[in-house]
This record gives sequence, structure tokens and C-alpha cells, in this order.
Amino acid sequence: MQYTNNTANKFDSTELEKLIQRPFIDSEDLNQLVKKIFSDIKKNGDESLKYYTYLFDKVKIDEVKIDKNRIKNPSGLSDELKEAMNLAKNNIEIFHKAQIQKSVKIETSKGVNCWREDRPIEKIGIYVPGGTAPLLSTVLMLGVPAKIAGCKEIILCTPPDKNGNINPAILFAAELIGIETIFKVGGIQAIAALTFGTESIPKADKIFGPGNQYVTAAKQEALKYGMAIDMPAGPSEVLIIADESGIPEFIAADLLSQAEHGTDSQVILLSDNEEMIKKSLEEIQKQLNLLPRKTIARKALENSRAILLNNIEECIELSNNYAPEHLILALKKPEKYLRQISNAGSVFIGNYSCESAGDYASGTNHTLPTNGFAKNYSGVSVESFMKKITFQEISKAGLERIGPAIEMMAEAEQLMAHKNAVSIRLNQLKSLKSLEENSSNKTLKTDQSMLDRLSESLGGLKS
Ligand SMILES: [Zn+2]
Repeated sequence: MQYTNNTANKFDSTELEKLIQRPFIDSEDLNQLVKKIFSDIKKNGDESLKYYTYLFDKVKIDEVKIDKNRIKNPSGLSDELKEAMNLAKNNIEIFHKAQIQKSVKIETSKGVNCWREDRPIEKIGIYVPGGTAPLLSTVLMLGVPAKIAGCKEIILCTPPDKNGNINPAILFAAELIGIETIFKVGGIQAIAALTFGTESIPKADKIFGPGNQYVTAAKQEALKYGMAIDMPAGPSEVLIIADESGIPEFIAADLLSQAEHGTDSQVILLSDNEEMIKKSLEEIQKQLNLLPRKTIARKALENSRAILLNNIEECIELSNNYAPEHLILALKKPEKYLRQISNAGSVFIGNYSCESAGDYASGTNHTLPTNGFAKNYSGVSVESFMKKITFQEISKAGLERIGPAIEMMAEAEQLMAHKNAVSIRLNQLKSLKSLEENSSNKTLKTDQSMLDRLSESLGGLKS
């Protein structure tokens, strides 16, 4: 991790940003591969799916779908892990359930009622990486909000290991939230299958889930075929802002926790305290050597930097420009700065809110915008699994009130059919009114049934 002391220089966030530029990933060759696999899966379905699974995962699979009974009884899981996953699931559920908003009917003008209602997206595809880090937490982070949203079908794809098996913890997580449709396919071919549908795998309406650069490129390709995805993804990252109250051991541990995600991950430490930075960097070296994934973490640290700035305000400004996926505030008075944070995926406040808590069990979602997308994207929430449908109901009096404005605007846009859709109704209402006036003058001559019919059709006018 490189160290820069910027206190003698003028604070220029554009200049400083160059120091913490994210590693560039050239995906040109990758895109060619993605295109080839997409067209194969589209043409040959399951057959190509099995071929690519053999090619990339080195395993022959006869059946891509996992038997329901296999999901119900995953073997080799400790009770402690099961309990841990239960705790995490409960917290995720509590936090996400609170996101559901009651629909409110709004009368924008008298007689003009408008409201929005939620509807679940019907078929959700969830991609769960397997391999060296089977992300069982991702099953919970995506499955729980999908269930709360009421999605009808959750299709989970995850790659098999060399023996054709799925990690039992992933199966247990699926069972915990009631996901019954699991397919053992991974990588680009899984995303392609969810995009087009195959003989075994249903076509999804929206695809969620993290993945390596292959999966990321595949999700981008899926967009071209009208698929929706959770968000554009990139390598994981954390930015820590610490003052003298930060604890170097904790800071080092948090930086390493993101560095171990992948060699292309990036971690940043900003501080107004030189001592703090120096101690944290020393501590990183100590802790790094004890990690099983130290080779990955060490590589990630090469793209990482610690910067000494004059004050915490400068740290916040640089962080806002960087827009980190995770932002940790190891500050004495963090509440002072919360309003100033404009770009971040998820914020962890104080020395005891470690980033791992949000990854697993505090309740917030860990599917967050990386790669600067925190400037324009939110993390996954229940809303990500829903659509909002707007409704409106306009009474006769309501249309009389807003109709002339609509006519005027439609005419200005030269869309006369639009104008006419209003005029034809307003004219009818006018003639009904004059009929009512005439008939009230001649009540004696009018028979009762005609009066009934009129009063029925004019009912709305009185409101
Ligand atoms: Zn993490």
C-alpha cells in the first residue's frame, strides 16, 4: 500500500483522484468470448450449457437442475453455521421488511386521484458464485428481499465443484428462505441461460448477483437482449476515513477484509493523522502474513493507497469524488460529517461498525454499487425486486378542471388526437349539462324513467 503525504500541497481533489484511480480492466477479448457463448446457448440450450460446464468447470453434468430433496438435506453443515445463517437471515428480513411503503392516494386536483402500487417482478434470476469463495451470504442478501417483494419464481444458478456438487451451505441458505429451483451452472453460460431460457432453465425477468469479470461482462451482454440487471458491477472496495481516534489494528483488518476479495480490489485510507496512517500500514503487514488469501490481498494492496490530508473535511470531499462502495468512518465525532456524505454505497460508523457486519449479518444489503457507480446507483433493496405501477381515476368534475390545460398543451405539441381525447369528453359533459337544464324546465312533461337515466349519468357532476 503506497503512502502519500499531501499536507504540504494545495488540496485539489481532481489531482488526488488520479492517485486512487481504480485499476482498469480491459474486457475486449472477454466480450468476444461472451458473445460466442451467448449465441451458442441461445441456439443449443442445455446441450451448450453442459458443454461449457465441462469446458470451464471440468465436470460432466447430466442434469442441470438440483433435486428438491437434495436442497432439503444438505450434509456436512455444523449447527453453529446454521444458527449463524439464521441470525443473519432474521436481521436481513427485519431491515428489508421495513422498506415496504404503504401506497398513498393523492388528490392532485379536486376529482383527480393518483396513486402508486408495488408489483413484484415475476421471475428473478440469482447468480451465486461458487469456487474458492462460495458466497452463501449472497443467497440471503438476494433471496430474502425477493421473497419479501413477493416474486413468484426465484431461479438460482451456482457453479458445481469438480465432483458436480453444490456447496451445502448454499443449499441450506436456499432452503432457509424457500428457494426450490436451483441449477448447477455458473459463469457466462449461466447468465446466458437466464437471458434466453433453455430446456431446463426458465428465462428470467431480471438477473441479480455478483461475480467475477466473466459474469460481469455476461450481465452487460444480457442487457442487449432486453434483460434487466441489478447494477453494473466492479471489484469490491472500501475507503476508510480515520482521525486520531481510529484503532490501527481495526483499520488494518478492515482494509484487508476488502483486499482479500480479489486481486483487482482496491482499499483506501484517508486521515488527518500521520501517526495513525503509519501504525495502520505496519499493522497491515503483520496481519497480512496470517491470511490464507494473502497472495490475493497483497496484489490488491498494490493498487491501494493511504493519503494524509489536512483535515477530515478534505477526506470527506475526496471520498465523495471517489464514491466508494463501502465507507468506514473511524472518527471521534462521525455524526458531524454524515450530512456531508454524498456518494457511497454503504456507510459504517465508528470503530465497532466493521464492514464485514454489513457483508453478513447486520441486516443491510451487501449488494452495493462499486467502481464509482455509488454516484448514480443504490444498493439492492426490496424495491429492486419490484415495479411501481401508477394508477389514476378522474371524475367528470376532475376532467373539467384539468381538461382545458391538457387541450392547450396537446395543441402546443401538435398532437391533436391527444387534444381530441379530452375535447370529446368535455363536449359530452357540456351537452349533458344543457340537457339537464332543459329537462328541469320541462319536468312535468318528462317521464320518470328518462329522469332516472339522466340523474345516473350526471351523478359525477355534483361532486
Ligand atoms: Zn466484503
